Amino acid sequence: MASPTVGLPVGTPFGSPHALSPSIMVIGSLNADLVTYTPRIPAAGETMTANGFRTGLGGKGANQAVACAKIGRRRGDATPADLKGAVPVYMVGAVGDDVYGQTMTSSLTAAGVDVSGIAVRAGQSTGVAVIIVDEAAGGENRIMLSAEANGSLTPDEYAMSLPTPGGGLPSLLLLQLEIPLPTVLQILETAHRQGVAVLLNAAPAQMLPDSYYKCITHLVVNETEASFLSGTALDLSGDDSQRDKELSRVAGHFLALGVQHVVITLGAAGVFHATSSDSGHIPAVKTKVLDTTAAGDTFIGAYALALVQGQTVAEAVQWANRAAAVAVGRRGAQESIPWLDEL
Ligand code: ATP
Repeated sequence: MASPTVGLPVGTPFGSPHALSPSIMVIGSLNADLVTYTPRIPAAGETMTANGFRTGLGGKGANQAVACAKIGRRRGDATPADLKGAVPVYMVGAVGDDVYGQTMTSSLTAAGVDVSGIAVRAGQSTGVAVIIVDEAAGGENRIMLSAEANGSLTPDEYAMSLPTPGGGLPSLLLLQLEIPLPTVLQILETAHRQGVAVLLNAAPAQMLPDSYYKCITHLVVNETEASFLSGTALDLSGDDSQRDKELSRVAGHFLALGVQHVVITLGAAGVFHATSSDSGHIPAVKTKVLDTTAAGDTFIGAYALALVQGQTVAEAVQWANRAAAVAVGRRGAQESIPWLDEL
């Protein structure tokens, strides 16, 4: 296995000649999570009483923006002096003109995210995830996503240029696949043309045309997504060296298509990272697990932040493993993401 210290100075691949100082922009989904805890899954036509219900804030886009912001600030930081040096985080997306949209924007603002790029769509609903948690089955969940306002982001809006809510282009753009795929593809193309580095979290997994992979600086996927997108089975049942060989093979598929850095997250087993010249496995932080919701989003926020702050990819992965380990020790999505002073 190659050294896990990948050692690439991450400032170099970052492309935007226009970004004067580090900044992160997320273009993606914002959802209200409606979670019902049940003793079992109701049968067709059956009405049953649930054990409990809660609403939460989610959506991979919003979660990752919150992760970038919280992990870059101490809780309660508010004055210009407190925030000196904090990386600005801009969220771009759409919510409906309903109570979920209002709650979402005020919660993102409280976390330190600039919400001026969030459109409020009149007459539409905010995106919703209806989640049933089967408590008898160890908390196994079933999720129905309704895109609602998230579905209103059109490719045309991004054809000429990326949005610039902070007045300039970001040093890193984060994308996921919870907004319409044609819109994501247009954004990838525009970012590539404008020289903006992109981190794509290809989740939930959908096939991407091969020609778009060259627009991706950092591809971050879990093992299931890596297998789906590469169109090959991933057998991780062997020993460490067989596992790394297998991950290297799948990462090689994306590198050959033009991705610069491939990061495959493996839950409690850590992370595999590869570039065309180096690769390695970095273990997760051992911790007590309460709820893994938003572990991936926390990892991505911390990884992105560390990169724009000039850390190497290996350092960024280690930092992100630490942040995600804190998140899995707490319940919930955005509320489980740690502030800087909790790391
Ligand atoms: P999710 O969809 O649940 O948010 P994911 O499938 O996208 O997550 P994972 O690979 O499960 O992503 O986890 C992302 C990262 O979170 C891991 O690389 C690791 O750093 C951390 N993590 C996840 N599970 C654990 C665990 N049990 N113990 C320690 N760290 C964990």
